[in-house]
Amino acid sequence: MPIQLSSDAIVLRSINYSDTSLIVRLFTEQFGKVSVIAKGARRPKRSVAGLLQPPNHITVWYQHKEGRDIQTLIKSEFVERYSGLTADLARSTAALVAVEMLDRAVHDSDPHSMVFRLITSTLRQLDQIAVDAPVLLHFYQLHLAKQLGFGPRLSSCGQCGRALDEASLDMITGNLLCARCRIAQGIRLGRSSLEYLRDLDHTHISRLSELQADDNAVKETGNFLLNHLFFHVDGMSNLKSIKFWRQVTT
Ligand SMILES: [Zn+2]
Repeated sequence: MPIQLSSDAIVLRSINYSDTSLIVRLFTEQFGKVSVIAKGARRPKRSVAGLLQPPNHITVWYQHKEGRDIQTLIKSEFVERYSGLTADLARSTAALVAVEMLDRAVHDSDPHSMVFRLITSTLRQLDQIAVDAPVLLHFYQLHLAKQLGFGPRLSSCGQCGRALDEASLDMITGNLLCARCRIAQGIRLGRSSLEYLRDLDHTHISRLSELQADDNAVKETGNFLLNHLFFHVDGMSNLKSIKFWRQVTT
C-alpha cells in the first residue's frame, strides 16, 4: 500500500521525462534524498515546472511505495523564494554548485537534519548580498565535509602531528601535511589561508561578513576545498556547475 508523505525539500535536479513530465531529485528534510515523478508538470496549464527546479526550497507531498526508486509527486509549493539569486550570476552559480555537490555527497533515503539546515541557510545567505559568494561557498563546503564526517584536520599535520602554520594537501592520503612531511608538491595552503579556514570553521553563517581574507587566501582555500571534496566524494570532480563557477569567478 502506498502512503502519503510530506516534507520540506531542496530541489537538487530536474530532468524532463516524456512529453509533459519531470523526474525531480529532492533532498528532503525528513527522508533524505528522494526521486519523484511530477506527472504533467510541464503542461502549460499546470506550469509547476518552474517550482521544481534547483535550488528551490519547497514543500512536497508524495505517494511513497516501498521498494520503488521513483515516488509519485502529489503537490508542491514554495517555502522560500530566492529571488535575489536569479539577478546575480555568481550567486546563482554558487547555489547550483552547492546543490550539485549535495546531490553527490548524500545517499538516497538517508536524512540529515544538520545538512538540511546548512543548505537552506547557505541559500538564504546567498540570496541576500551581505557576504561574497565565494566566502559563502567555502563555508558551505567546509561544513558539508564536517557534517558528513570528513572535515579536514586544520590544526596539526596528518603525519607527524606538529602544529600547522602552513600546509599542503597530500592527494594520496587526503591529509594536510606540514612542510617537513610533504613529499610531492600538494595543494598549497599558506598561513593566511589556514587562518581563513579556521575562521570559517568557527564563525556562524550570519556573521561571515565580519571575516577578513585576502584574495590569495580566498583563491587557495577554494582550490583546497574543491580538492578535499574530490578526494572524499566519488563523482564530485566532474560537476558541470564547477566549470561554470570557475569561469564566473576568474
Ligand atoms: Zn608533519
